[in-house]
Amino acid sequence: MPEPAPAVDELLALDRRHVWHPYGPMPGRQDPLVVESASGVRLRPADGSGELVDGMSSWWSAIHGYNHPVLNEAAREQLDRMSHVMFGGITHEPAVRLAKLLVDMSPEGLEHVFLADSGSVSVEVAVKMCLQYWRSLGRPAKRRLLTWRGGYHGDTWQPMSVCDPEGGMHELWQGVLPRQVFADAPPAEYEEGYADHLRALVERHADELAAVIVEPVVQGAGGMRFHSPAYLRVLREACDAHGVLLVFDEIATGFGRTGALFAAEHAAVTPDVMCVGKALTGGYLTMAATLCTSRVADGISRGEVPVLAHGPTFMGNPLAAAVACASIRLLLGQDWLAEVERIETGLREGLAPAAETPGVRDVRVLGAIGVVQLDHAVDMRAATAAAVREGVWLRPFRDLVYTMPPYVTDDADVARIARAVCAAAREG
Ligand code: PLP
Repeated sequence: MPEPAPAVDELLALDRRHVWHPYGPMPGRQDPLVVESASGVRLRPADGSGELVDGMSSWWSAIHGYNHPVLNEAAREQLDRMSHVMFGGITHEPAVRLAKLLVDMSPEGLEHVFLADSGSVSVEVAVKMCLQYWRSLGRPAKRRLLTWRGGYHGDTWQPMSVCDPEGGMHELWQGVLPRQVFADAPPAEYEEGYADHLRALVERHADELAAVIVEPVVQGAGGMRFHSPAYLRVLREACDAHGVLLVFDEIATGFGRTGALFAAEHAAVTPDVMCVGKALTGGYLTMAATLCTSRVADGISRGEVPVLAHGPTFMGNPLAAAVACASIRLLLGQDWLAEVERIETGLREGLAPAAETPGVRDVRVLGAIGVVQLDHAVDMRAATAAAVREGVWLRPFRDLVYTMPPYVTDDADVARIARAVCAAAREG
């Protein structure tokens, strides 16, 4: 018999005392929402206060919504067969099937797949691949990374070093992290002057650069900025011209969010290395992946240490891989683009009134992503409460109130989410 769940108050007291939350203090100072269950696009709070429409897809991941019968069935079936087995010296069908699905759906040329256990780790692996590639080729001095300001690539060591150095997320660690090369944040529209800035930086630092790493088209947690895909072509050309690898971090943008399966497609560019995560398992289980081209894999294989020196315990977890396969099939088996475009239309209409709100600096929508940027730091508590009053779960931060709903959100719920974003922007 499962233990009876503690009352909400007791649970919150235990949570405050014992449990770290993302970027949270210890002991906890704010009461998180206690969620009892989730189904479709709705979260059910444990205090009986009524369902909330999820405007966040649990941070870009739950693209099919929660408690989806197809994903549940895939998890159950795999659970009965084998929930986990080590990946050293062993392989299994879910991992192999997933690798093949990823290669088939990714930009042409990405051939090899490392199954990591979180987005941050997949970025660590991407960086390792690039550094090891140049070491293998006898160029160990090529070990720095170039990125643009305003980015976010995760919270482990190498990813932190390429996050926005002034964004406040990792300022604490400046001076301790590996010293990388930063370009200015990319402008929304194409500007030749900015393209020249990128070209010049790649050329100037080519001898020490292992790779350029960027979030293509959308910079997510670093500021929810959108930029012209043309900059990705500029980077591809500059990297090719000066012998630098190109890494796209598609952890947030992958699996259709921007209106292309991968944001790289907006520019018809193949990176040398690509990271995916978040929506990979439809938000069910923790898994990410790093894909690379044969050029990168062959380079590593030619080295003194001809293996990729990384191998986490839960690598290739069969349960996560089986759900990821089901999630990708579910996505590709429907007109996902029509759904993303439908949400884009709904968000454009629904967020338009926010542009007239005092204190709002910008309103922008791309694919199934809607952003209202304020001219001041958002009052998170007031903004979240305003959204909850509209029956919607949002997680505003910095100067941003934003949404990236599950693709299965119907028109009425998209309109509701947009109303909640407008209310949060007004009251936050
Ligand atoms: N890269 C990008 C673009 C992200 O948005 C995130 C997470 O928000 C990460 C990397 C890190 O992924 P994870 O939180 O799974 O470690």
